[in-house]
Amino acid sequence: MKKLLQVLILGFLSTSLCAQTSYLHCGKLIDVEKSKILNEMTIIVEGDKIQSIENGYVEAPEGAQAIDLKSKTVMPGLFDMHVHLESETSKDGYIKRFTLNDADIAFQSTVYAKKTLMAGFTSVRDLGGSGVNSSLRDAINKGFVDGPTIYSAGKSIATTGGHADPTNGYKDDLMGNPGPAEGVVNSPEEARKAVRQRYKNGADVIKITATGGVLSMAKSGQNPQFFEDELKAIVETANDYGMLTAAHAHGDEGMQRAIRAGIKTIEHGTLMSEETMKLMKEYDTYYVPTITAGKSVAELAEIEGYYPEVVVPKAKAIGPKIQDTFSKAYKYGVNIAFGTDAGVFIHGDNGKEFGYMVEAGMKPMESIISATVTPAKLLNVYDQYGSISQGKIADIIAVSEDPTENIRTMESVDFVMKKGKIFKNQ
Ligand SMILES: [Zn+2]
Repeated sequence: MKKLLQVLILGFLSTSLCAQTSYLHCGKLIDVEKSKILNEMTIIVEGDKIQSIENGYVEAPEGAQAIDLKSKTVMPGLFDMHVHLESETSKDGYIKRFTLNDADIAFQSTVYAKKTLMAGFTSVRDLGGSGVNSSLRDAINKGFVDGPTIYSAGKSIATTGGHADPTNGYKDDLMGNPGPAEGVVNSPEEARKAVRQRYKNGADVIKITATGGVLSMAKSGQNPQFFEDELKAIVETANDYGMLTAAHAHGDEGMQRAIRAGIKTIEHGTLMSEETMKLMKEYDTYYVPTITAGKSVAELAEIEGYYPEVVVPKAKAIGPKIQDTFSKAYKYGVNIAFGTDAGVFIHGDNGKEFGYMVEAGMKPMESIISATVTPAKLLNVYDQYGSISQGKIADIIAVSEDPTENIRTMESVDFVMKKGKIFKNQ
């Protein structure tokens, strides 16, 4: 017994000696669990975990590093529930589908991943790419690439000609007939197969395009694109695998069908009616607004030739409406989870969304909770992430001002720690 105890103590000592210990001296610390700001606190981080949170500035013992964040406001690492790390908006974006190999996409995605992390987003949900997004997740987890923790949807699921049909706008002989593996389904059976295929390919979450969209080569930006039996088949199958479901939706009818089928998050939600807001509350559905993307596409549509002709009127009509919808949904009491659709605009600008949310009526503290506590709970990782609490993973960021006084401070993050490792310290 004594011997066993000795071994245990030695084992404990050797692991604690190896792990780097940091004492973060925080001028202000946002307690997202209690919605309040604490002054002059110390976070002790050991290895990749938060060991404890102490009052006052506790001096770092020998061998531990002290990190001076006394002039900063410190908070948990942020989540963006809607990004596309494989690509970024550009004038030649549409032709790139024919010119870039997967390896090209992979290399550029590493740049976008790093920008995202440096902007304070230590976790993201990647809602659709080619599958490179899932490889990027693995490369980041292995430490090959700097970037956020990714919850990947792999390739989105659509119906034929729908928003995420990968061959929309191609000439006839290139169109082919994409099926469930490529993310195109036209029956409940195919819907189940597409979800299971994504599980097999290593996706963490499921993304569907419940209505038309702005940037696809198709006429309607809002029509419903799934029948309810197809939606139900997707949700039931995804639930079997514990995969969170997200539906891109601009039009009201498509949104309502998705909500009734049990889809957990509605992305964009542009033309959401009050009836739909009521339905969302009833079904405990979350709204991921992506205001930044809406504003960005509306601005870019003003540049002659930036988007294909079929896209321009959709971008001008739908883009500017999202902030107003957000305002109404927020006031109605719809659950909000922070998400931007970064990639549709420049990666690293994700923090702008906070300013837009607050401008539309949300309290700054609530906007921060929507990007920390709420997404961690939705992704079922709140026991590890989403707040600065004892025993959780040390994903910690800091900004120069108090965001409850100036929310735009969220646009330039000064300090980023992910899993106990410092990536940025200005
Ligand atoms: Zn998107």
